[in-house]
Amino acid sequence: MLMSFCINCGKIVRNRKELHENLCMDCYVQSHPLVNFKKSKHPILFLCPDCLSFKLFKKWNDPTSENMSTDIMEELNNNLDSFLTHPNSLYVIISSLNPDPFDLSYVKAHKNITITVMIRGKVFPETSPISSITELVLKTEFQVCTRCKNIRANQHAAEITILKKGKSLTKEEINSYSSFLSKMFEKHATHGMGDYVLTPKAKKNKLIFQIGSVKLAKKLASSFRSKFGALVRESYKHEDQEKSRETRKKISILIRLLPFEIGDVLLHENTPLLILKIFEKQVECLDFFKNTSKKFPTNSLFKAKLLYSHDDLEEFSIISQYQDVLQIMDAQFQIYDLTPPTLFKIPSNNSKIKGFFFKDAIYILPPEKLSEENEFKRSI
Ligand SMILES: [Zn+2]
Ligand SMILES: [Zn+2]
Repeated sequence: MLMSFCINCGKIVRNRKELHENLCMDCYVQSHPLVNFKKSKHPILFLCPDCLSFKLFKKWNDPTSENMSTDIMEELNNNLDSFLTHPNSLYVIISSLNPDPFDLSYVKAHKNITITVMIRGKVFPETSPISSITELVLKTEFQVCTRCKNIRANQHAAEITILKKGKSLTKEEINSYSSFLSKMFEKHATHGMGDYVLTPKAKKNKLIFQIGSVKLAKKLASSFRSKFGALVRESYKHEDQEKSRETRKKISILIRLLPFEIGDVLLHENTPLLILKIFEKQVECLDFFKNTSKKFPTNSLFKAKLLYSHDDLEEFSIISQYQDVLQIMDAQFQIYDLTPPTLFKIPSNNSKIKGFFFKDAIYILPPEKLSEENEFKRSI
């Protein structure tokens, strides 16, 4: 029986069929690379220097810094046939990147990363299966992504202005509105290129947010309204683009804050009203004279006087309660007898209750079962 061996490394094989062009498979693979980039199809990894999103094949991906390597490999593996030549009989997969492209300082200095391609299987039907690794160089370039380009060029599709008429916004208000909108942004963002909200600009009684997409801006405005109660008005601005000479529509959403909040007491047509709930165009109030709750059109309350803001209400302790007398005590230990309200249950003795003086009488408020919105407001 004839001995068969590799003409390169001398390895003896049992069967001549194990050799190809007189080479063992290890030597054959070394002289005939099994995978390579297709001619003029070298993929380039584009990284956005502003937000770290990346692009390999036309589409920009989200900046997901934690899994960037995994995302890049997945994108490469899903498109292998478009840029890689490889025998169909082999199992080919990109198994690692070196270094992790999130190490931007490296990428900036070296401009490219190495991808490891793992190959397994039979190169020829009659030869033994091989398992080998090939390294290819993936070029890296920096390019500002579409979203960041728009941000840089100040081309936001929408603008939300929160307006407090006649008064300056306090720091607390600015913080609470900003943090609420950023929470809502996280909830509604779909990771499209227009999904961004820039750091708001505060101007006396205005807070201005610039937003990448109209759809997102509308969602943010409507969640703001249901949280804080406000009048919302949309309008379109037409902007002439000097370079492209085309007119672009930009939506501008004005959120006018109401001059009152949940928990405030207003004086409307000589009647004290407690703001209970704020709806889109109506406000539910407790009428202290009639001892009932009633809805008012929001506009009708604009001129009402603020009798007590919810922070300025008096605090009383409940001393005792009988069917027809409720005894309460103020902070100066002064005791008052009242007719117990019928609209709500009085909490147990010794608990605290809010109230106010109006025309020599005392009115007490329902215990703080106030809505979630109100809790949010109170916690800020
Ligand atoms: Zn050999
Ligand atoms: Zn970017």
